[in-house]
Amino acid sequence: MTAVENLKRLRNEIPEHVKIVAISKTHTEQEILEVYNAGHRCFGENRSQELINKQPLLPNDLEWHFVGHLQTNKVKYIAPYISVIQSIDSLKLLVEVNKQAQKHNRTIDCLLQFFIAREETKYGLDLQEAHVLLNSDAYKNMKNIKIRGVMGMATFTDNTDRVRNEFRELKQIFDSLKNDFFPHNADFSEISMGMSGDYKIAIEEGSTIVRIGTAIFGERNVR
Ligand SMILES: *Cc1c(COP(=O)(O)O)cnc(C)c1O
Repeated sequence: MTAVENLKRLRNEIPEHVKIVAISKTHTEQEILEVYNAGHRCFGENRSQELINKQPLLPNDLEWHFVGHLQTNKVKYIAPYISVIQSIDSLKLLVEVNKQAQKHNRTIDCLLQFFIAREETKYGLDLQEAHVLLNSDAYKNMKNIKIRGVMGMATFTDNTDRVRNEFRELKQIFDSLKNDFFPHNADFSEISMGMSGDYKIAIEEGSTIVRIGTAIFGERNVR
């Protein structure tokens, strides 16, 4: 099946209120354009250099999401066009995103990334760190970012109970932050969880954004 057919099948299967971010990492501009030409606009990358290389070669009405670990010194390159940075994992990064967004007279939507997996390699905040961030004066004074919700990656495992529990944990984190910090703020509404192997479980547990690569584009090219 082609990427366009894969996406169409997923779109039919996934509830309408759940956004699909097509994760295009390692795939070519041409592969992205085929999906774009079929009407899809929302794409995600996890490495800044790859996004920096691809973005100028593609139409400028793509909605780009950044989903990987982002170094503060790379923010300035993507700030002019990035729609959502899903991977905010420190106050320092958020400060820089706000600063660069201000330079371009924009507001950048952000998700707080949480560490929910039982794996060493994944980035993210824990609930206490998020409280420190959201209680900080630095955060309260930011005018050019909007916290739209949370993001997390489950452990890469066949153990579906474990995956489900991790997604449940992220949903609980979302609910508690909503209650403590955003009770009257409708912007704080997104839970980004679920990838090619686990999006069904994620949606059952309350996902509003799924990030799907392989199930759309097929196996990744080697970088
Ligand atoms: C690569 C990646 C995805 C998509 O992974 P697939 O298993 O190919 O769907 C989703 N989220 C993040 C953060 C990624 O790096």
